[in-house]
Amino acid sequence: MGLSFHVTKLEVITVAVGFALTCLLAVLPPLEVAGLPLYFYLTPALMISYFVPVWLYAIGLLCAVFFGVLVVGGMTIAAGPESLVSGILLMSLILLRNLTSRADTIFITVLLLCVMAFPLSAFLNFYWSGYALPQATLLASNYVVACLVSLLLAEVFVIIIALSDWRVLSVLRKTLNFRPSLVQVIEVIVTIAVAASLTVTLVMFWRDGDASLKSQVRTAANARLAPVYASAEATMIERLTQVSAATASMREIGIESKIIPGMGRLLSHDLAPNWADFERPLDYAVIFDDDLTFATPGLPVEVVTKAIAFASAQSTSKNTLRAMHVRLPDGQKYPVSVLLGQNGKPSILVLYHSLNDALLFQFGLARLGYREMYGDTLSLATPNATDTLGQFGVPSDAQILSQPNFDQINWLPASSELTQRGRVFVSRATVDTYLTLTPSSEYITRFSHTLHGVESFRVTLPYWPYFIDFSEAVTFSVMVTFASLMILLLGARIIFGRLVSPLAELARMFESWRHFRNGELNSSSALQALDFRGLSSLSDIHALQTGFRSLAQNVTYGERRLSTIAANYDALLRSLPLGVLAIDGSSQITFLNDAIGDIIGQGQDAAVRLAAKASDMLSTGVSVQEWQLTLEDSPPKNLLLVVNLRLDDRGRESGLWVIATDLTGQKQTSAQLIQAAKLATLGEMSTGMAHELNQPLNVISLASSNLRFSIKKDKATSEKTLLKLDRIDSAVQRAASIIDHMRAYGRLAGENLTEINVGEVCIGACNLLEQQLKLVNIALVNGVPDAGLQVTGNAIQLEQVLINLINNAKDAIKDGGSEGVIKLDAELSGDMVLLKVTDSGGGIPNHVLPHIFEPFFTTKPVGKGTGLGGSISYGIVREMHGDIWAENVSGGAQITISLPLAGQELSTK
Ligand code: ADP
Repeated sequence: MGLSFHVTKLEVITVAVGFALTCLLAVLPPLEVAGLPLYFYLTPALMISYFVPVWLYAIGLLCAVFFGVLVVGGMTIAAGPESLVSGILLMSLILLRNLTSRADTIFITVLLLCVMAFPLSAFLNFYWSGYALPQATLLASNYVVACLVSLLLAEVFVIIIALSDWRVLSVLRKTLNFRPSLVQVIEVIVTIAVAASLTVTLVMFWRDGDASLKSQVRTAANARLAPVYASAEATMIERLTQVSAATASMREIGIESKIIPGMGRLLSHDLAPNWADFERPLDYAVIFDDDLTFATPGLPVEVVTKAIAFASAQSTSKNTLRAMHVRLPDGQKYPVSVLLGQNGKPSILVLYHSLNDALLFQFGLARLGYREMYGDTLSLATPNATDTLGQFGVPSDAQILSQPNFDQINWLPASSELTQRGRVFVSRATVDTYLTLTPSSEYITRFSHTLHGVESFRVTLPYWPYFIDFSEAVTFSVMVTFASLMILLLGARIIFGRLVSPLAELARMFESWRHFRNGELNSSSALQALDFRGLSSLSDIHALQTGFRSLAQNVTYGERRLSTIAANYDALLRSLPLGVLAIDGSSQITFLNDAIGDIIGQGQDAAVRLAAKASDMLSTGVSVQEWQLTLEDSPPKNLLLVVNLRLDDRGRESGLWVIATDLTGQKQTSAQLIQAAKLATLGEMSTGMAHELNQPLNVISLASSNLRFSIKKDKATSEKTLLKLDRIDSAVQRAASIIDHMRAYGRLAGENLTEINVGEVCIGACNLLEQQLKLVNIALVNGVPDAGLQVTGNAIQLEQVLINLINNAKDAIKDGGSEGVIKLDAELSGDMVLLKVTDSGGGIPNHVLPHIFEPFFTTKPVGKGTGLGGSISYGIVREMHGDIWAENVSGGAQITISLPLAGQELSTK
């Protein structure tokens, strides 16, 4: 659940302060300052709950539930729990941000249910304790609005802290450890906009609500009063006009003396039931245009004349009703009503002995109608009353709810019970609340010229229906605003979440990648970080920018480094002395280095065979193998092949690498070593001499038998004899020289080496063999320059080598059965002289080539070849610090002898 039980001192202090403030709010009466509840100003204190860990929120929740119970039980007043609801909402919000596990989700769901249950329980509480449905709803929604406002304030405050750079707030920022997402910021802005309009609307409602309600009530009161006044006026005019007309006709028929009593009956016949209510009988007067006046005894004629004159002076038209006062001889002022006559009809004057009589006479009928219509009497102000109730005609035992204004008073009948609960202004309206109003001043001014006592009427209206209408309207607008707020928030979350989340993901990716690059993350946690899905914040976008920049830089550097490395590797591979060959997935050769070019020569076919062999090895699971590559125009190559799988850019297997090491030279060297050892043995073998000595011995034997035959036949001349003896002598010398050669093997290297001319040695060898070769149609071409190629060596031995090589060439040509050419050439290569014997005998077969310098290796039939010519030649040349090798050239074989130029310091090889 992610609960942290590590509590810091700061946390303990903040919780303590928050809790103390909450308790304070809970016990304070619902004070209002400048029209807003006190807790509203204490909201910042509530925000302390933002900084505490989860488990402390749990305690906060318990406290809230506890206070909720207190409220429902009627044991406390509303402000404290409201503040706690705000706190819980804040907690939920914080937790929603840090949702990590399922347990957290459950915890928050419970919290939110509690938050929702609180206004609901408040609603039930109000409803059960007698408030009407809309009023209870209003009170409950009032909670929610208050919570929303404090919540928003807290949100804004926290976001400002989180986003600001102020150093003063750094401690708070650290404690807060909150990074608002962009969606959250947008949400808060949207919410602020909606909530601001909502709050303004509500504040306006509440501030002007009472006044507007009262003006509504006043309009209703006016609507009731207007017909009362109008009908009273009309009745008066009607009544007086009738009397005026009746009097005029009576005068015409001459019964003037009876006018007054008859007029009294005429004027007041409809008031007969109320007659007892009059203080005294009214006085009347009739005044004709000719100054004839009839008046009751209580009305002196001069008072009447004065009054009529005054009324006529004031009004422009005749037939006008006027309300005036006259002073009687007793010194008192009395109200009078005057109707000015016209068209020969008399003016009428009625004198009332009290205001009450005047009201009865003028409004009696209208008030009757009012009572019939509304079931309520129009109350009258008690004249000269000092107490407010008297002035307003409110029952004396009524409970006054508000200090009366000069025109209205709010009151409750004595019987009804006033429950003080919730907001003060709400508690002023109950089902029994009445508002008593004076008539509007416009009515007073309008009717005071024609009617007496218009200002003394009071209209009483029930306040409740108007309040109900009003609270229904407020509740409805609150609901609508809330619904739109929720839709807006949801929409903002969905739209911005969709838009901004990818950015956040990207930013997080860059971030983890950067950490990974810096070595702060291993690859698996970097990958895990990439999995996280969250909402983006402003700093995410910043991270995105820096991340992208560093990514771009890294990629550029990386590419540069890669291309350098690739170039280096390429150069290295190409110049490697090992042969390297790359084959792709479809067995196509994609790369060949220089060394492999040297091995396989120009033949494409060889490369293809090599590639096929490598594929073959791979398929049979062999990665290292020795293999002989046969070539068309050069000796076969012994290769050591190493085969490796090749990976492509995505790390998939694609083709293979073949590394080929040329073992041919190495093989030769080891063969040469064996050969040298054999030759050493051969040096000790005298039997080899037989072959060499055979020829001179034959010569001697032939010459001596020839000589003997000539002597027997007496054909021997001294000349012939001498010739034969010379031949025998030269054969003996040759045999001695052969023995010398053989002895040479036993000698130490370098012994008996002198500076010799290669050209001369070649001429010697040619002279010796030229004739023989001619007989078998072989041309011997000596292309070696006579002079200039001086080497260190033994002339006879070198000549012997040449004789061996020429003889072998001759045998090869003869085997082919045709004529041919043997060529001797020499050239200078560095400090070596290369002496070449080239024939046209068809070349040495590949399988023979590696063995021709081995002792006793021969392909010739028994008795013909000994297999020693090659090996003796090899030994001689090595003695002379040179080398000898054979290769096939076009049409035949070419044996090359390399010998160091004379005048060099020779090393023992
Ligand atoms: P021999 O001549 O007695 O056979 P060598 O040591 O001189 O012994 O030669 C060994 C073998 O090398 C020969 O049997 C022959 O097959 C081969 N050989 C030497 N020189 C040539 C050449 N010029 N052309 C063809 N084959 C040759």
